[in-house]
Amino acid sequence: MWASSPRLSALAALMMAVFLLGLPTFFAGPAQAQGPQVAPPVPQGAPVVIRAIHPVEGASPDLFALVIDLSEETTFRHEVLAAPDRLVIDLDRSLVSAGAQRMTGKPLPAIGALRAGLFMAGQSRIVIDLARPVLVERADFVRQGGVARLVVQLRVTSAEAFLAQARLDAAKRLSSRNMRPEPPPEENRDPRPLVVIDPGHGGIDPGASGVKGETEKDIVLAVGLALRERLVASGKVRVAMTREDDRFISLNERVNFARAREARLFVSLHADSLSGEPDVRGASVYTLADRATDALAARAAEKENRADLIAGLDADEEARGGIETILVDLARRETRAFAQIAARQTVNALASRTHKTPLRGAGFRVLRAPDMPSILIELGYLSNPQDSRALADRSEQKALAEMLANGLEAFVLATSRPDAAQVPAGEAP
Ligand SMILES: [Zn+2]
Repeated sequence: MWASSPRLSALAALMMAVFLLGLPTFFAGPAQAQGPQVAPPVPQGAPVVIRAIHPVEGASPDLFALVIDLSEETTFRHEVLAAPDRLVIDLDRSLVSAGAQRMTGKPLPAIGALRAGLFMAGQSRIVIDLARPVLVERADFVRQGGVARLVVQLRVTSAEAFLAQARLDAAKRLSSRNMRPEPPPEENRDPRPLVVIDPGHGGIDPGASGVKGETEKDIVLAVGLALRERLVASGKVRVAMTREDDRFISLNERVNFARAREARLFVSLHADSLSGEPDVRGASVYTLADRATDALAARAAEKENRADLIAGLDADEEARGGIETILVDLARRETRAFAQIAARQTVNALASRTHKTPLRGAGFRVLRAPDMPSILIELGYLSNPQDSRALADRSEQKALAEMLANGLEAFVLATSRPDAAQVPAGEAP
């Protein structure tokens, strides 16, 4: 593949471009002795920091590179995913600095949006949306002073070649995915019912963004932590959270986390955004429904279900790896009836802060557990200035947590009494 001379000259030009960026070429031999400029040794276990990501143009439009600046070298993997076409680069034991979350430099036509963030504990992920089919030709570290640079050399390819590589990568992923069972919850003699709080999005997936650039992932985490604090303080229920920091968790993992712990209620927290409709505001509470209540509900579910895709997962694979094998109809019907009650209690507790149609249903993937009542709360609309301001405000978050806690406690305590084992008459959908 290196034989044709046009390719060689294009490669030479790319070397030159990388060189102009201040990089040694990646054909340079081992790093030379660097005297006093050598960076201090990084302590064992300290994370590698991803500092910047910049695209570098090649001489021909089908050859270019992504240059990723890190505090030191680390192990990495790359793969491509089709429909939508994406390139994913995973870097072990790394963190993404705030400055590296957007690409710097001149955008390249083959590259669409770029996202970078924590993907799982100690692993960062970079996801690049591709406007044209592109494959990695080679990827190597070059070292310069205190910066380790990962040069990912890319070449535009045919749609067929891209799809073939995407299939190969998917097969590799499936065979290496260790179906590690969820660790059994600790021995727990505490008889109080468990509420699992699930702050949506996180890490590489920021969710919606507000009028002042607030991100949904930060807001729902803040409200989730305030809600936990409030629930723990009153001591009526036990609480667990699917995430307590800024990390990505797949939709399946969120549900599995709560099911493994036999949660009495699963509460997913989100904040919506509607472009072009700044007047729409207020909280909505969703339950699972085969058919969406209205267009707004359908759109919310469609958007929230995209989280896995945004984070560079294969959405179809994830949907197949779900939990539908045990869809016992009876359990599901009872579960849905309980979820309806929980949703209604929550809407009542939120009082005037709700949207004009506060109770809705749609096909949210995160609400599919057949045996665990699950609700999803869109706390408000980040596209509405009033909602956006309130949701980012610390004392408003606490007030919201107080109301949510009242609603959730009312549901859990009422339905956990021994005489509440049956679904109340008239509640079955
Ligand atoms: Zn969301």
